[in-house]
This record gives sequence, structure tokens and C-alpha cells, in this order.
Amino acid sequence: MRHIVIVGNGIAGLTAADTLRRLDFDGEMTLVGEEDRPTYSRPALSKTALDPNQEFQVSYLPEATHAGTQLLGTTAVALDTQQQRLTLHDCNTLGYDGLIIATGTSARRFSTSDREFTVRSVDDAIALRNRLATRPSVTVIGGGVLGMELASGANAMGCDVTLIHCGTPMTDHIGPLLASLISQVAIEHGLRLIDGRVNAVDELSTGMAVQLADGQQVSSDIVISAIGDAPNIQWLAQAGLLHDGRLVIDRQCRVQDNIVAAGDVAWLKTPEGPQRYPVWTSAIEQAKIAAASLLNPQDATQLNFQPYFWTDQWGMNLKISGPARLPETAPVVVRGSLEERAAVLHWPEYGAAAAWNLRMSLPKLHKLARETVVSA
Ligand SMILES: Cc1cc2nc3c(=O)[nH]c(=O)nc-3n(C[C@H](O)[C@H](O)[C@H](O)COP(=O)(O)OP(=O)(O)OC[C@H]3O[C@@H](n4cnc5c(N)ncnc54)[C@H](O)[C@@H]3O)c2cc1C
Repeated sequence: MRHIVIVGNGIAGLTAADTLRRLDFDGEMTLVGEEDRPTYSRPALSKTALDPNQEFQVSYLPEATHAGTQLLGTTAVALDTQQQRLTLHDCNTLGYDGLIIATGTSARRFSTSDREFTVRSVDDAIALRNRLATRPSVTVIGGGVLGMELASGANAMGCDVTLIHCGTPMTDHIGPLLASLISQVAIEHGLRLIDGRVNAVDELSTGMAVQLADGQQVSSDIVISAIGDAPNIQWLAQAGLLHDGRLVIDRQCRVQDNIVAAGDVAWLKTPEGPQRYPVWTSAIEQAKIAAASLLNPQDATQLNFQPYFWTDQWGMNLKISGPARLPETAPVVVRGSLEERAAVLHWPEYGAAAAWNLRMSLPKLHKLARETVVSA
């Protein structure tokens, strides 16, 4: 393989590039990235980027050492797999022998109003931070982890914040126990929670009006939508790679003979059907496997990562190792206590562990999660 093209300059694209070099690929490498800046930490955009006690700074990752050609500010708009050629937004084309797709996702939104904010890129975070600095009233739609982080950031910046979500925020991500404990802390900080489903968001001359399914209307100066993301696959529409509108990879991150994919854009084939794992560490693990299997399709290792994610919000930190949704069963408290809001928790029957406001190294947390005997 002489020329490998990587589309997407996020963490998955960068990790794939570094991995190719680590595996002694000495051919030509080109990275095509829509954003006109080097790779940065996306998770920081809903955390330190909205911390009023810190100057806004882009958390760039260490400078790339892969020595590939970087075409930043460049969007791939079409792919011809027969000709092995990409078309770029400026109508130039780029041939490849091997292709790594790492184009991530875009935030979903309700409207085109510039009073509705989403956060996916540095530019989004800057726009939101600047607007929050004027202390608008804020409605956050969506109580997933991202919605709660953004609500926390807006609250910390002195805004009056309402969050709309069906049920207790984050229950689907961190289980009912931690979700209700963290929601309680958020309410103590002044968050107003509304249990409801949003039907529509309208821009009025006075601000934004969020229409709920039960007929209620919630008004505020701005809306922040955190209602999920959509994989960036428009450029693949004619490429013949999508199945039911999804870019599906196997456990070696393969899409086709000389095409692999990694990160948020990819759906992993599983016995339960295709699943996405849109978290930072999963993008890294997939990118490593994708690069390896592009170079050595015969003996590449298979994805077998321990799911992990973290969140910082309402002055608290939570790290979870294990399956995405924690069970309703009470955890074993290994250290600290739930009352003190600082605890290491273990669900031995479920392969999961959490460190809530207590320090624990990642290897130790993973080890605890895998232990099947009670560790208290
Ligand atoms: C605000 C926020 C907070 C988050 N917090 C956490 C967290 O706390 N913990 C956690 O584990 N995960 C978190 N995540 C998720 C994590 O950031 C993602 O899982 C990770 O960034 C995915 O990396 P990626 O490289 O697959 O995609 P991305 O980071 O989205 O990178 C894809 C890149 O491809 C570019 N691109 C798209 N289309 C094209 C095209 N056609 N041509 C060229 N380039 C293109 C995009 O502009 C982008 O730069 C967060 C995400 C967001 C948005």
C-alpha cells in the first residue's frame, strides 16, 4: 500500500495516522480535515471551555509526528470506490490505495435559529461561551451527559438554566442511582428540571419558545440543544458503502477490502445489531485497530475494549468503566460513601465500576470493573 488517505482529523483520524507510522508504514499519508485547525480535545468543549474561572483555550493535542500531508479546511464531498478516488469541496480529487474514514458526527438541532446553540466544534463552543457571558436565560434540551455538562457550564457562567428531559437526566447513560444523585446536586445549584418531551422550538421576536408535547411552552433567551448526533456520511451517499444508511464496521474495523472506519461515524456490527460507541476512548481503540487491519488484513487483532467514559459537571467528576447503562441494583461501595458524594462503586455481576469524586487511576478502575468478586 503506497498512499493512505484518512478523512477526518479528529482523535480517530489522528490516532490512525500515528498508528500507521508505529506499525512502520512508510508510504504516503494524507489527512483530510474539514476543520481548519489541528486535532483538539472535543470533550473539553463542554467542560473547561465553559468554565468562567478559566480563559478560553483550545485544548490542542500534542503536535502530530506522523509527517503526513494535512489538508485542513478541506472537506471530502464524494467517494468513488471503483476509481479509489475522493472528491474534495474545491473539486480537486485525491486517489488512494487505502482509506480510513473517521469523519465523526454533527450535532442534531431543532431549528436554524442563531439563538439555538449546539456544541460539537471549537467554533460552537466559542459562540456559546460568548453568548453565555451576556447572562441570557437558557433552556437546555436533552438530559444526556452532554446536556447536563452544558447546563452545568451555563449555570456556572451565571445563567438561569432550565433543562428539559424525559425522566431523570443521564439515567440511560449512568443508571438510575447515580443519575438521581447527580440531578439532586444540579437542582441544589439552581437547575430547573422539566420532565417532558419537546415537540418544536420556535424563534420569537422576544427569544425562544420551546413547545412541549403536553402543551406547555418554555420561554428563554437562548436554547442549547443536546439531542444527539448524526454521523457525517453525506459524502458517502453514492459510494455504495452504507447499509440502511449506516457505515458498518466489523470487529477489525473493516468496511471493505481497502477501506476501514473508526470513531463516532462507525456502527460496529454486534450480535444485537449495529451499535455506535461515541466516546473518546472508543474512537482511539477503533482507530488503532482500523489502521492495523488496513495494513495487515489477515492478522489484525479484533476490537475488545473495555467501555469507559468520564464527565465533569456541577463541580463533580465521574468516571465509569463498563457497559454504558448501569443497572438498578445497588452497587458495592468500595470506598467513600454515597452520602458524602465521594465513592468508588462496583457492580460485580455487571462488570462495571465507577469513581465519583474520588481519584482512581484508569487501570485500577478497569481492573475493579472486571472483578467478579465483591471487593468491599
Ligand atoms: C462537547 C462534547 C463533549 C464530549 N465529552 C466527552 C467525554 O467527556 N468523554 C468521552 O468519552 N467522550 C466525550 N465526547 C465524545 C468524543 O469527543 C467523541 O467520541 C470523539 O471526539 C470522536 O472522535 P472522532 O475522531 O470519531 O470524531 P470527531 O472528533 O467528530 O472528528 C471528526 C472530524 O472529521 C471532520 N469531518 C467531518 N466530515 C468531514 C468530511 N466530509 N471531510 C473532511 N473532514 C470531515 C470533522 O470536522 C471533525 O474534525 C464529547 C463530545 C462532544 C461534542
